[in-house]
Amino acid sequence: MSDVTQLIHEYLRHNKKFPHVFCAGCGHGIVLGSLIRSVHALGLPKDDVVVVAGIGCSGRLAVYVDFNTVHTTHGRALTFATGIKMANPRLKVICVMGDGDAMSIGGNHLIHAARRNIGVTALVLNNHIYGMTGGQCSSATPQGDISMTTPYGALEDSFDFVEMAKAAGANYVARGTSFHALMLDKLITSAIMHPGFSMVEVFSPCPTQYGRKNKFRSAVDMYKWLKKNTVKIETLKEGEKPEDGRIPIGVFRDRQTPGLEERYADMQRKLMGTGR
Ligand code: SF4
Ligand code: MG
Repeated sequence: MSDVTQLIHEYLRHNKKFPHVFCAGCGHGIVLGSLIRSVHALGLPKDDVVVVAGIGCSGRLAVYVDFNTVHTTHGRALTFATGIKMANPRLKVICVMGDGDAMSIGGNHLIHAARRNIGVTALVLNNHIYGMTGGQCSSATPQGDISMTTPYGALEDSFDFVEMAKAAGANYVARGTSFHALMLDKLITSAIMHPGFSMVEVFSPCPTQYGRKNKFRSAVDMYKWLKKNTVKIETLKEGEKPEDGRIPIGVFRDRQTPGLEERYADMQRKLMGTGR
C-alpha cells in the first residue's frame, strides 16, 4: 500500500467520507469510480497506468488515483499523452478531459490523435458546459441551451463527439453516461485494452453550472433525464437513428488495427533491426 493510499485509509477511518472537490450530484465522481474499477478489474499494475488530465472539473480526477498522473495545460492533454505513449508504448495511457478540453480548446488534438490511431484512451466527460471556469458555453452545449455566455440560448450546433472520432479514424468509439455506471465500467475496460486510439464519451451531469441554468430542479432530475433520453445501440437496427430523439449509447466502432506506436516499432525493426 502506498503512502497516499495509507493516508486515505487513515482519513476514512476517522471521517467516513472521501474528501473531494465535486459539487453534490456531479457525475464526475461516478466516472472516477468506473475508471478505478476498470483498471482494478484488468489487474493492471498501478505503475503501468498513466492518467493524463486536462484543466477543469474533469481534470481533478487525476488527483484521486494512485497511478502515474500528469496534470497538463488546457486542451493539450492529448499532446502530453501522445509523447508519453511514444516514449514508452508499454504504458496504458488514459487521457481524461472535459468537453471544453477535448473538443473546444483541444479539438484539433483529438482529431489528430484519432487519425494517428495512437494507443491512448481518451475519456471525455461531457457535461455540455465549461464547469469549473464559470459555466461558459462549449462546443458541446446543445443549441438553444442556456450558459453564462449564451443567456438567451446557444445559437450554434453542438459537436457529436462519437461521429467526429469515428470519422477521424479512432479504433474504438463508445458513449456512456454517469447514470449507466456498470455499462460504463465495461466501456472503459474495453477501451483501455484496445490497440490504437479509443475514445469513451461520458454524459456526466453538472447540476451546478448546467443543470440550474437549464431548468433541471435537482441533480436527480438530470439522472432521470439520462435514463429516459438514452437508448442502448444494440437495441437499434444498424444506422438507425431513434425518431424520438433519444441519444444512442454503447459501442459505435470496434476495430483492432495496430496503433501508431506499434507501426513505429515495426518501422524501427525494419530499418535498424531494433524496436521495442
Ligand atoms: Fe461537477 Fe459542475 Fe460542480 Fe464541476 S461545476 S464539480 S462539473 S457539478
Ligand atoms: Mg465541460
